[in-house]
Amino acid sequence: MGGSAVGKPPELPLALTDQPPNRLTAAVLDERLRGTKFVSLTPKRVLNPPSATGMDYWSLNPYVGCEFGCSYCYARYTHRYVVERAHDNGKLTDSEFADFRGPHGWEAFERRIFVKEQIVGALDADLKRVQVGATIVIGTATDPYQPAERRFRLTRAVLQRLSRCEGLSFGIITKSPLIARDRDVLARIQERNELQIHVSLITTDPKLARRLEARSPIPAARLRALQQLVAAGINAGLIVAPVLPGITDSVAHLDTLFAAARKAGALFIHAGALRLYAAVRDRFIPLLGQHYPDLVERYERAYAKQAGAPREYARALARRVQRLQKKHGFMRNEGMIDRYRPSRVPTQGELELRGSLL
Ligand code: SF4
Repeated sequence: MGGSAVGKPPELPLALTDQPPNRLTAAVLDERLRGTKFVSLTPKRVLNPPSATGMDYWSLNPYVGCEFGCSYCYARYTHRYVVERAHDNGKLTDSEFADFRGPHGWEAFERRIFVKEQIVGALDADLKRVQVGATIVIGTATDPYQPAERRFRLTRAVLQRLSRCEGLSFGIITKSPLIARDRDVLARIQERNELQIHVSLITTDPKLARRLEARSPIPAARLRALQQLVAAGINAGLIVAPVLPGITDSVAHLDTLFAAARKAGALFIHAGALRLYAAVRDRFIPLLGQHYPDLVERYERAYAKQAGAPREYARALARRVQRLQKKHGFMRNEGMIDRYRPSRVPTQGELELRGSLL
């Protein structure tokens, strides 16, 4: 999302998206039997400006860390950043630091969730810097409707504040059906602003989803929420990101997803290939080795020099997505994910990871 605001699909910010905490206390607000702790964070600012992220929109994430724990999640570094800053500033002891990082550096992202208390006050102040016509995307780094939202309702509070705005563009990205709870306030926002809801889903297969996304809501629940949003007149569609080479990129797999999106009434659908950032590798490659051992070497080769998918692969995937968009009656992918324009006719088997591309 960006430029003409919410007309674009969400992009993964490359730079840090969370402001350094102004005051981090280790105050535990709640705990789960599974060991997850919810910890208070009181930031002075909550809107990340385009200058900080390199994107052309403002972004906001009510929580740092995410219990859904997707293996391909690129946002783990934001959690590490907050924890390391707090430790460097003397706000976490060494033992708290060890606990907040976890043994491999990625676990804590799923189990130590920072809750940005007093978010509305900070948002109030930040909104003074946002000009009419600007875009604000919620959920660029962590899911705004993750389980913590049921307890803390920060996202709803943010939306209620934003419903008083006018002439802005808003995008929301989520894997959670909990977003349907907020149809009332979303409808109010949409009356005076642009709004685009991206329900995120990479597969309709619940077993595959569970393998790749430790605790995300089942696909059917997400599609049902999408249906409810559209039925309520909300501008909502599906974001298929990341497409995982050799796992979820076949025509048959994507076709099933696109058909499900159509059936749910999605107003648009976007898709983009996996980006394998350093923070993703630590978590994703071991899981790949466990379930798809023959893919490990190919991924390592394909992503050896860059985090993004190889250019030829991304181009071929974009063409495949466009054909499926057309087949299912969706508008063509026109967002940042679709940065590689088709320049030649695709060849058979071009997307086969097991074949020549990777
Ligand atoms: S839902 Fe989003 S933020 Fe949460 S773990 Fe999955 S990819 Fe990361």
